[in-house]
Amino acid sequence: MTQHASDEGSRRGKWWNWFSGEDADGDTEQGQTPLAAAAIAHEPTAREIWLPAKRRMLGKVADFLIDHDLEVLPATLAVAYDCVTGADPRLAQLILERADKGLPISLKWLEDAKGTSGAGNDGPLVLLMGRIEESLTEFSSTMSGARTATSEYNSAMQRHVDDLQQVNKAGEVISELAALTRAMMDRTRAIEHNLAASEQRIEALQGNLEETRRVADMDHLTGLPNRRAFEKRLERDVREASLAGVPLAVAFCDIDHFKRINDTHGHPAGDRVLKVVADTLNRISDSRCHVARHGGEEFAVLFRNHTLEQAFDKLDGAREDIAERRLVNRGNDTPFGQITFSAGIANVFDYTDQSAALKAADEALYAAKGSGRNRVLTAGSLPEPAEQAA
Ligand code: GH3
Ligand code: MG
Ligand code: MG
Repeated sequence: MTQHASDEGSRRGKWWNWFSGEDADGDTEQGQTPLAAAAIAHEPTAREIWLPAKRRMLGKVADFLIDHDLEVLPATLAVAYDCVTGADPRLAQLILERADKGLPISLKWLEDAKGTSGAGNDGPLVLLMGRIEESLTEFSSTMSGARTATSEYNSAMQRHVDDLQQVNKAGEVISELAALTRAMMDRTRAIEHNLAASEQRIEALQGNLEETRRVADMDHLTGLPNRRAFEKRLERDVREASLAGVPLAVAFCDIDHFKRINDTHGHPAGDRVLKVVADTLNRISDSRCHVARHGGEEFAVLFRNHTLEQAFDKLDGAREDIAERRLVNRGNDTPFGQITFSAGIANVFDYTDQSAALKAADEALYAAKGSGRNRVLTAGSLPEPAEQAA
């Protein structure tokens, strides 16, 4: 047995003794556990029945920590517990995939993985909207409960009032009581009606909230996700791609000489050209490729699980598509002339952090502008400044 294996064996032994409460030597009689011996002597108690299950669970938690060489800390114990009990199946799956690749499960990685498997990192606005939505849902269910209670109360009262009417000869007091009750019932019916209307308004508000959330992430002109949505997507893609160990490329595209289009054809025609470019770029988007309007006449693209070459080919295809089209200003039938864009692309994980990667893509874009426009350049293979100036 190797030194490592025997160390591991003794570590496991200590864990087991610690969890099971047996002494350090673990001396049980000829392989028979104290529990088994006790079982022969008397009917098992409830404690004796659940104790083995509890021990098995603790054993699995211990095995998890030992298998992944993790320290015993509140955070790692919580993760181990979540994985073993199935409380966080997504995290368990991520750990399994990473272990399969032979990559270490470090504390830092666990923190990131917990973030991914949890609710995500939405901005304050989205969190606020989430809270409003929760309150509305709660309010709505209270309303609905109150309405049901009022309605049940009314039906019960109706029966009693009808009975009372039968015996109104029994005295004036009863008739008065019946009249009062009837008035009260009219009031509660009105309340019931108002509650139903409020419920409907809440439903409409919930729908509006959903729509507001969608609109907050969308660019109105092109219908593409906006910069806010792009930044959220970037955070998420960086986290997930790094956990899955797959590449991620980011690109910035900027329409060439767009100001001229506005100056020659007017702003509304410029808007139409912007939409055509947005639609063409959007054609390359799918579940792994996200296109957003970053601002003005600039677009950002994220290519998850694409090598730099694959990302380049897709983006360059879109560039060719646009450059080949001959758009005409439908306002006055004047050709727009060739519409082109320049782009810079970078592999996110070649840089220390995502902002360095964005900067590299931006620099590549400006190198593309400097070296003649209507081209895509990859960061890391930029032309020398002399070439750019040529
Ligand atoms: P370059 O090739 O160097 O990028 O030149 P450019 O003319 O495209 O760049 P510049 O930054 O000088 O001009 C960008 C123009 O884009 C200026 C701005 O008015 C216009 N623009 C930005 N957003 C919109 C928009 O939503 N609609 C329209 N029509 N124009 C816009
Ligand atoms: Mg620009
Ligand atoms: Mg431009």
